[in-house]
Amino acid sequence: MISDRIQRMGKNGKVEARTRAAHLQNTGKTIISLDVGEPDFGTPKPIVEAAIDALHEGFTHYTPAEGLLELREAVSKKLEEENGMAYPADQIIISAGAKQALAGALFSICNPGDEVLIPVPCWDSYPQMVRLAGGVPVWIPLSEDHGFLPPVDAIRAKITSRTRCLILNTPHNPTGRIYPEALLREIGELACDADFYIISDEIYEYIAYERRCVSVGSIHEKIRERTITVNGFSKSHAMTGWRIGYAAGPADVISAMKLFQSYTTSCPNSVAQRASLAALSEATEMAREMVLSFKERRDWMVRHLPMAGIRDFLSPEGAFYIWADVSSYFGSVWNGKLLADSDDVAGFLLEEAGVSVNGGSPFLSKTHIRISYSASMEDLKMALAHMGEALHKLNQMNR
Ligand code: PLP
Repeated sequence: MISDRIQRMGKNGKVEARTRAAHLQNTGKTIISLDVGEPDFGTPKPIVEAAIDALHEGFTHYTPAEGLLELREAVSKKLEEENGMAYPADQIIISAGAKQALAGALFSICNPGDEVLIPVPCWDSYPQMVRLAGGVPVWIPLSEDHGFLPPVDAIRAKITSRTRCLILNTPHNPTGRIYPEALLREIGELACDADFYIISDEIYEYIAYERRCVSVGSIHEKIRERTITVNGFSKSHAMTGWRIGYAAGPADVISAMKLFQSYTTSCPNSVAQRASLAALSEATEMAREMVLSFKERRDWMVRHLPMAGIRDFLSPEGAFYIWADVSSYFGSVWNGKLLADSDDVAGFLLEEAGVSVNGGSPFLSKTHIRISYSASMEDLKMALAHMGEALHKLNQMNR
């Protein structure tokens, strides 16, 4: 007796892949996980200590639904100083991770049948959240020829009278692209002309290597008036388990999100909010140091992946994923099984190389795999050695 709404969500491909990897691990096989969507660092000490202090002080009760005023003020200051966007604290909501802010935003702006534009490949939660909120996802295909950035004409071609919003994600999961400011400006102007919202998911903002991640809402006040900026501490401060994110946007949308949050979760975790205050005031430098380490690993992976038989990818500009086309292996046969799409190639790498990467289907791709390099150098080296051997063997068997 499960609701149609939930049944329509289908299976969670990433969770299933992780379960398969765990199953193999339980049989005694060593598996290296390059399917991880979180920093491999521990949370910086000042943040942990702030949480311990909060616990000792008995800061263990409900907070306001929209989050602590001190934290909203600190986020407001951060958005002004780092992102060039002036949002007063009452236009900011703290949530249980960026994920809850995204869901709250979609539930607050979508009526049944409203269309939400999503560039694909995309993070797997967007389409599911849109559907749960009663909306209809409309795909904007991204291609390597355009550097995995959506041409404005491709967006324009998908606009209808039902278009309610566009979800932008920069730096982008899974492709690692960072939207250039000029493109963001064009997209923002289009949103103003065609009257739709932009949800700008900037959760990987800090993890940007070559250039700064520009917030679309900083480009023009008119664009900011229709943008809901979403960010959080999960990736920047290695705080995935603490579940604190935030959104800043138009006053009516933020107050709708507050209503939604008050009835679904009451408020974000009190202790984690105090920890997040410390993240903003005391741990920014530590967050920046983590990025240097990701950059080193990115550089190493980009240099060595081709030798392991994975050649077709763009060097990521941000986040910690490599989005690689593995279609050159389609048609190969392994253990009597035809490798027909990137999920099959990921399955092959798991079983033959003992390396867990994500197949493309959770991100709506048949051709690419996502390789996370949020792992130790030792694991990355071992993983690439095993992948290289396995893919070489596959080529030999299929000559
Ligand atoms: N947005 C994107 C693009 C993500 O990849 C993720 C997590 O993987 C999130 C949002 C969720 O972030 P949080 O842990 O703050 O909910």
